[in-house]
Amino acid sequence: MIQLRHVSRTVMSGSSPLTILQPLDLDIPSGQFLAVLGPSGSGKSTLLGLLAGLDAPTTGSILIDGVEITTLGEDALARLRSEKIGFVFQSFHLIPSLTALENVSVALEIAGASNARARASALIGDVGLAGRAHHYPSQLSGGEQQRVALARALANNPSILLADEPTGNLDSQTGRQIMTIVQQVHAARGMTIVLVTHDAELAALADVELRLRDGAVDQAIAHTPA
Ligand code: ADP
Ligand code: MG
Repeated sequence: MIQLRHVSRTVMSGSSPLTILQPLDLDIPSGQFLAVLGPSGSGKSTLLGLLAGLDAPTTGSILIDGVEITTLGEDALARLRSEKIGFVFQSFHLIPSLTALENVSVALEIAGASNARARASALIGDVGLAGRAHHYPSQLSGGEQQRVALARALANNPSILLADEPTGNLDSQTGRQIMTIVQQVHAARGMTIVLVTHDAELAALADVELRLRDGAVDQAIAHTPA
């Protein structure tokens, strides 16, 4: 469960303060698939950064499974991220000098996992890339790179997956394939997903759709299960 209470973020823009996220109250129950929509600059990435503890809110409280993360130090935050949170970015962020398999296994090795290679190999299979495991990112298409990034994000079996426009650099068909995998993983593992997207069709797949505008919630829409 993620709980936000009066969470806002104000930054300095030149010499004047600019509130980029207005005070927000939000509960994200465990296992919920939440889509965050909104025009460019509406505060979507800011919200994800706060959920991940990458940025600190200016006001308010963020609880993840009952733990107040806004008062944690860097080490505790890093531990929380490595134990609970997986990330996927628009631009993949793979390490170019490592193969697909190594990009996935390195996170497991750092976390001290036993059989990191075997687990990475299974994850690469889960995202449909068994035949591409030994390719480098430059040898993979955008969609394939995003699958590797997804496998890496899932490597530590996170209870929360944060994805910032993961299909933003992909054509719509490839984007849909990525989302199909996300949905399969969600069905299989039941983790909480917060997906930032511009794509209303992808947002419609979520349990709840949060629409931001100018740093504030414009609309929150609960989708009834089909
Ligand atoms: P989105 O992801 O919805 O496109 P962002 O959350 O990245 O929007 O940004 C919201 C607004 O806040 C934008 O206008 C952006 O330029 C501004 N912004 C974000 N981070 C900072 C910062 N560190 N300093 C100043 N302005 C920022
Ligand atoms: Mg953004």
